Amino acid sequence: MSTVTPQKFEFQAEIKQLLDIVIHSLYTEKEIFVRELVSNASDSLEKLRHTQITEKEIFDDKLELEINVTTDDKAKTITIQDFGVGMTQAELVENLGTIAHSGSKAFLKALGESGTKNAGLIGQFGVGFYSAFMVAKQVRVYTHSWRASEPGQLWTSDGSGSYEIEESDGQRRGAKIVIELKDDCAEFAQDWKMKEILERYSAFVSFPINLNGKRVNTVQALWLRSKNEIKEEEYTEFYKFQAHAYDEPRLRLHFSADAPLAINALLFVPKENTEKLGLARTEASVALYCRKVLIDAKPKDLLPEWLRFLKGVVDSEDLPLNISRETMQDKALIEKLNKVITKRFLKFLEDEAKNRVDSYNEFYREFGVFLKEGAALDFTHKDALVKLLRFESSLTDKGKTTSLADYVTRMGADQKEIYYLVGPNRAAIESGPYLEGFKARSLEVLFCYEAVDEYVMNNVREFDGKKLTAADHADVKLSDLPKPEGALSESDTKTLTQWLKETLGERVSEVKASDRLVDSPALALNADKFMSPQMRRMMKAMNKDGGDSPLRVNLEINPRSAVMKRLFETHTSAPEKARLVAEQILDNALISAGLLDDATPMVARLYKLLESV
Ligand code: ADP
Ligand code: MG
Repeated sequence: MSTVTPQKFEFQAEIKQLLDIVIHSLYTEKEIFVRELVSNASDSLEKLRHTQITEKEIFDDKLELEINVTTDDKAKTITIQDFGVGMTQAELVENLGTIAHSGSKAFLKALGESGTKNAGLIGQFGVGFYSAFMVAKQVRVYTHSWRASEPGQLWTSDGSGSYEIEESDGQRRGAKIVIELKDDCAEFAQDWKMKEILERYSAFVSFPINLNGKRVNTVQALWLRSKNEIKEEEYTEFYKFQAHAYDEPRLRLHFSADAPLAINALLFVPKENTEKLGLARTEASVALYCRKVLIDAKPKDLLPEWLRFLKGVVDSEDLPLNISRETMQDKALIEKLNKVITKRFLKFLEDEAKNRVDSYNEFYREFGVFLKEGAALDFTHKDALVKLLRFESSLTDKGKTTSLADYVTRMGADQKEIYYLVGPNRAAIESGPYLEGFKARSLEVLFCYEAVDEYVMNNVREFDGKKLTAADHADVKLSDLPKPEGALSESDTKTLTQWLKETLGERVSEVKASDRLVDSPALALNADKFMSPQMRRMMKAMNKDGGDSPLRVNLEINPRSAVMKRLFETHTSAPEKARLVAEQILDNALISAGLLDDATPMVARLYKLLESV
């Protein structure tokens, strides 16, 4: 045993301040001290590996490069030992007594900016070594530097302002940190508890971590390996492990970047969209790592909202570096990461859409709704997202889709706008009266089947300088078609529309001859510019104001249809019957428009009409 008596040292003022916050804040995630100490151990082993390259003489050279964690629930202690570079007495003073290092410094700075109450910052930044004092009555660091000529040391502190250092014989190389737990933190000395924590934060640390003699980290940090060395099964296994998933990933993007930030990312699109199954809103869950150590499992702002379906890992070495740089705050850095990753992922989808059409379409069927959400709400990425949208149309086969760009290539010279119709499905849109006028003029119409589509189309507004226009909108003007034989004359048509207006009264705001009907006798257009039929239906479903406002529509009639010609004859010869027919025509048009609120009066009327047959 060494005869030198312990030497007492005061912590630097900033460290005292830091310790005070760490010890007294009621911070719930106390467990992050494990992450901090294990990452220090890993750093130290990394340093040793480098030292071994240049130095011939290394103390205790035969030791494995590993980390051993032991718990003792009787004694309420935790020991974390590494066989890394260790510390000399001077290094102990320098590293554990003063605030020279990155994490803690940035923490204090951020704390100064946000006010002292924000203990949540500890988790984000990590206060490094000092986080041990959240759970410890006393911390002892037994260490021996890799330099053989230096003696072993014991550093001791209860975190209350001072620490002691004494020489200590018989130490192995590296550092052995012994934590005497506070009474209310005794649970950390349970093997299962420590296992859980190590698995959460340190699963990908490259050096073996043994807990009470058993290896805990067996999965590799796949994202840091080179792509062409990784087997498909390894990716799948990693995905299942990391995302706690049971399915196989549908798509995968593995990339690295050096500028403007050092990023290694491995992102997965799951097989299924669980939101679609009616489950709760997906939580952002791409985890943020810094050199294989978990910083945040669910960082909120790492990706835009609409990418919340992604799983995987983003690792940036720049994280602690940039955080410590005086001018840069955590938030700005996350924003930068967000920008780079989102851009890269959009590029990836673009390539998928181009090179693997079927697989992209399958992806789109499942996750397209997120792209629509982004196109409608994320102004920054709107343009890229709109290009990724796909729709069936009047020119595609059922189940086949087109992009807006392809639609535009098919537009005739005179066509100025992109037309779409919202309806529950293809059959409903095709059998409705709205499409025929467009078909007759060879104008392509996109088909939208989802409730959000109308909202999305309204927000997107235009593509490639062309306005997105609802084909059932009252303002749509279509070119003249040659008048077919046998239509009602213009003056007869006028008489009929006037009579209809009078007969239908309050239910219609306008009745006119239509340029968009070919076969159907009539169609209804919502007179309310600000509320489309779909929107009205949605409001009704949600029980919102507006869904119940009295409905007035514009009725457009087809002077070529046999029904109208017959009605023109009857309106003078049998006015009472003609009135019933007129009401029925309006109801039929409302049904096609999805606007008929109550079908009961219609039934009585139909019986009346049937009596007269
Ligand atoms: P950081 O890891 O951000 O530098 P810490 O508070 O975690 O901050 O650690 C402070 C310093 O103490 C480290 O930079 C390192 O020099 C030293 N240190 C901590 N743990 C060990 C260890 N297990 N082995 C060797 N040195 C260590
Ligand atoms: Mg550290």
